[in-house]
Amino acid sequence: MRDIKAMLPEEIEAALKEMGQPKYRAGQIFEWLTRGVKSFDEMSNLPKDLRAKLAEEFYIDGLTCLRKQVSQEDGTIKYLWQLRDGNAVETVVMRYKYGNTVCISSQVGCRQGCAFCASTIGGLVRCLEPSEMLDEVLYSQMESGLPIGHIVLMGIGEPLDNFDNVMRFLELVNHPKGMNIGMRHISLSTCGLIEKFDKLAERNLQLTLSVSLHAPDDETRSKIMPANRGRGVENLISACERYYEKTGRRISFEYAMIDGVNDTPEHAKLLAKHARRVSAHVNLIPLNHVDESKFEPSTPEHLKAFQKILRDSGVNATVRRKLGGDIDASCGQLRKKLATR
Ligand code: SAH
Repeated sequence: MRDIKAMLPEEIEAALKEMGQPKYRAGQIFEWLTRGVKSFDEMSNLPKDLRAKLAEEFYIDGLTCLRKQVSQEDGTIKYLWQLRDGNAVETVVMRYKYGNTVCISSQVGCRQGCAFCASTIGGLVRCLEPSEMLDEVLYSQMESGLPIGHIVLMGIGEPLDNFDNVMRFLELVNHPKGMNIGMRHISLSTCGLIEKFDKLAERNLQLTLSVSLHAPDDETRSKIMPANRGRGVENLISACERYYEKTGRRISFEYAMIDGVNDTPEHAKLLAKHARRVSAHVNLIPLNHVDESKFEPSTPEHLKAFQKILRDSGVNATVRRKLGGDIDASCGQLRKKLATR
């Protein structure tokens, strides 16, 4: 059995051809899938015998909503979706002025081990399938009734540690006959798996690459982000430079401000140097609280002073607004959960 939601229209076309079916059916099937049907029987403009044949060769995956929380503060929605195998991941829908944005998970758990992040507790269980990531977007849109225009791959997991599936997901969600979400409306966030940067640059996608930098020097960065060990900040910035040159797309640096760890003026100056080198935009995020972690957010004064140093040296630095605070829906707070039933 093949996962039909992971297939592009031309692949469905080829499969239909092998079944001796007309290829125009592929477009119809792809459109039904984009509308979130759960079975071939719902595809009412297909002949009954074709529906039966399709059901023998393909399956249609879907998600089950285990929990939905809506923020009283700003309407942010956090979903816990159950996957076919009983695992579960969280997805967040944020309502920005420029449009509704979904923050999706790319793996069940994560093996990157960042010291301040809840998603990595318990390690990696498995990578998400392209259809599962697509369903996070599709089901969030259907369940919330909010049209989704933007996607950030900033939920649970490291997208570049699930490279092929994430690339396929991007093709699916970007497809003009599918959800048709523009690459410029998609951000992919990485802890810096630089060995994948050139491969990503080769695809020349117009998405925004967000690099979770969080520290400008090896000593600090390796302490809070194991992914830095054996790679190093200098190699990371060089990889960013090559990426920017190849794609012409500006990178953004994510920087969670952690009290007494990465928030001194020296850190700010070195960060400014890196950011200028690749014309990066810096997103400052006051660290979000995670119960299991000993880290605290920087004080508002430190944050302001830090931002001023960046700005004074010509770096575009903004502070990210926190959404969904009352439902633990912010960066680093999403968790993989096992279904209890
Ligand atoms: N693995 C990818 C994407 C998932 S995390 C990555 O590392 O980028 C999305 C963002 O949230 C990353 O920038 C991550 O470093 C950040 N983050 C993790 N825990 C956080 C916390 N407690 N407070 C603020 N940001 C956090």
